Amino acid sequence: MHLDALLIVAIGLALVHFGFPLAYYCYLKRWLNKPWDVKRDPGYKPRVSIIVPTYNEAGLVEAKLDDLARQDYPRELLEVIVVDSASTDGTPEKVEEWARRNPGLKLSIVREPVRRGKAFALNNALKHATGDVVVITDVDARWGSANTLSNAISWLGDPSVGAVTCLKKPAGRGVAGVEEGYREFYNVVRLAESKAHSTPVFHGELATFRKSLLEELGGFPTSIGADDSHTATMIALRGYRSIAVDNAWCVESVPREGYHKWRVRRAQHLVQHFATTLRHLTKASSGLRGVLLPETHLHLFNPWILAVTTTILLYLAIKGSLTTLTLLALGTMLLAYRPYRTWITTQLYLVIAAIRNLWTREIAWSKQEK
Ligand code: GDP
Ligand code: MN
Repeated sequence: MHLDALLIVAIGLALVHFGFPLAYYCYLKRWLNKPWDVKRDPGYKPRVSIIVPTYNEAGLVEAKLDDLARQDYPRELLEVIVVDSASTDGTPEKVEEWARRNPGLKLSIVREPVRRGKAFALNNALKHATGDVVVITDVDARWGSANTLSNAISWLGDPSVGAVTCLKKPAGRGVAGVEEGYREFYNVVRLAESKAHSTPVFHGELATFRKSLLEELGGFPTSIGADDSHTATMIALRGYRSIAVDNAWCVESVPREGYHKWRVRRAQHLVQHFATTLRHLTKASSGLRGVLLPETHLHLFNPWILAVTTTILLYLAIKGSLTTLTLLALGTMLLAYRPYRTWITTQLYLVIAAIRNLWTREIAWSKQEK
């Protein structure tokens, strides 16, 4: 009798765990097909400062700068600031050499004597930025085409937009199956959230902010790994739109080794971001709350519902419940189905991330080869 009640609880929790994101996804799908209510202006050409943070990127930094130099944005309105945090592999020297070969692009290097993390470095670079718009881009990210930057900037032509990010295509030799499934799904989510109001997850491949708003916020948060996402969310909480747009695509590199470690670190950063966002939820407008509330739940609480469900089912299975054994076998067999497998692994990363955040926040993480 007691065990039957436990089984009903477990099934109820499972329904909540899977039903909540499905309901949210259906809600978002409705937004996806609606037209944008912000108006992009391709003629809007502000002065732009592109900040490239580097830590031991000697292998990739030149290709990155080549990629930036290919952009069709007017040269006279563009500056690149590389901020290097005490790289030991000669990254700044590579950048200097590149600058000598490419005098047409305004480029400066900010060198930090000690490494304190990416956000610290971004804040340092920010002091030197002269643009009205600041763009952050990671060294291992490639922009899709020569007009990626122009396209992203054009959305800031609407004064209600405060921040813009790209959508992502995965590349590299990581666990490609899981990574691709994960991307398709999340691109839909990011875009639909942006149409509804704002997306709380920004991408380091291309994150664009009005500088005046960054200054109001006092720069990037240095104790939250997902500095770009959190900044975008704080901007949205001030009433501006922080959006991901479907005419700016970036290719992200997936590490060749240590894929799971990478996913856990990124999940840790997101958990830090949403745990802080949770405290500001009451300030959100109703449109923004419609995104932040479910996203906060999905990142902070929903994974634990699955963990509790699984624990109960395992307990009941040990107690000899045949129904439970059947359910567990079914759940395991379903792992052959990619979207389900992708979902379950993501939940696992989020649970591990929350636990790991208790002793390390991974603000200055070890570099992984891409
Ligand atoms: P991931 O995309 O989350 O895997 O993070 P990466 O390791 O690729 O780092 C993102 C970007 O930040 C890359 O361009 C790194 O070189 C850079 N980066 C990471 N840590 C630091 C740091 O401590 N200082 C600076 N200046 N850049 C950093
Ligand atoms: Mn990266």
